Amino acid sequence: MQPILLKSVNLFDPEPKGVCDLFLCGGIVAAVGKNLSPALPDVEVVDGSGLTALPGLVDQHVHFTGGGGECGFRSRVPELSLTDFTTAGVTTAVGVLGTDSATRSPKNLLARTKALNEEGITAYCLTGAYDVPSPTVTGSLKDDVAFISEILGVKVALSDHRSGHPSLEQLIHMASQVRLGALTAGKPGVVHIHMGAGKRGLGPVYDLLEATDLPIWHFRPTHMGRWQKEAAAFARQGGMVDFTAGEEPEKCALPVLRTLEEAPPERITISSDAGGSMPRWSEDRRAVVGMGVGSMRTLLPVLRCLVTEHHVPLETAVCLATRNVADGLYLSRKGRLTVGADGDVLLLDRDWNVHTVLARGVPMVAGGVPVKLPYLS
Ligand SMILES: [Zn+2]
Repeated sequence: MQPILLKSVNLFDPEPKGVCDLFLCGGIVAAVGKNLSPALPDVEVVDGSGLTALPGLVDQHVHFTGGGGECGFRSRVPELSLTDFTTAGVTTAVGVLGTDSATRSPKNLLARTKALNEEGITAYCLTGAYDVPSPTVTGSLKDDVAFISEILGVKVALSDHRSGHPSLEQLIHMASQVRLGALTAGKPGVVHIHMGAGKRGLGPVYDLLEATDLPIWHFRPTHMGRWQKEAAAFARQGGMVDFTAGEEPEKCALPVLRTLEEAPPERITISSDAGGSMPRWSEDRRAVVGMGVGSMRTLLPVLRCLVTEHHVPLETAVCLATRNVADGLYLSRKGRLTVGADGDVLLLDRDWNVHTVLARGVPMVAGGVPVKLPYLS
């Protein structure tokens, strides 16, 4: 792996560090400072003048194997490719399943997760899907989390007409299994919750918290844009809340902005729901009247909107899709560009276009063009 010296970048690690050099060696950030000149042979030097360096984005809700299928088999979204991630600035991602666990499975998702790691980015996944009891790899939620290094927790859907509608007992069992497996393996034990627009909202989670001593921190409701007040309250109580970027940056940015004002910022994250289908339903929920597909390219426009339209400090906005996410997943070398962190770097031009992406110190995108292509391309 060739060492790379990024000269004169405007560094946010995510804290603002000003214009400096960033030296990547052995896949990690080896040094940060002014006028670095490492005494090593064969160092590639990249002129980063005018470019902003951020940690590669960490996206914790991506349908690696494609989501959808709510409108017949023709509506199954295809698998995402390596360049879908890298050209959007994403260097770490967590794969999830959704409504369709009939034609897709946690094993299939795990295989795709392993493939993305082989191709050069860092990928994890969640076991389970909307279905209840949760489909698993090993037959046990606890064993999936304990023994499979890529699996960080479980996905479930609540307050949605597509949910598997777990009973309180099933939800408690699910969360307890994840916590036990996670304690065994030293993982966070994430219960990632697709929150629908259904009438009970976060009610089932509060029922569980009332009935047990499970820490609120395990529960990570997503798509919280439609539940902004509830999101802020949940985060104030110690939970982490996730918002979904979309085609309209302002629409996503506004509830995030309000939540930043009302709750601890480090408990707020943004993910893309890339590869997931975005069905538009008829009033009575009987028919799908339109279908879109989520993309990781929606993340940067939302961050940009927060910074340029709403004057959120860049370091605060960037943390929503880097350090906050990484910390919530116990990924201490991700979401930051401090010495010793993984060499996951995103260089943006002045218009927030992706200029260069490095994943674990290897160039993925250079000059806005993907240079590392998927294995089968
Ligand atoms: Zn999704």
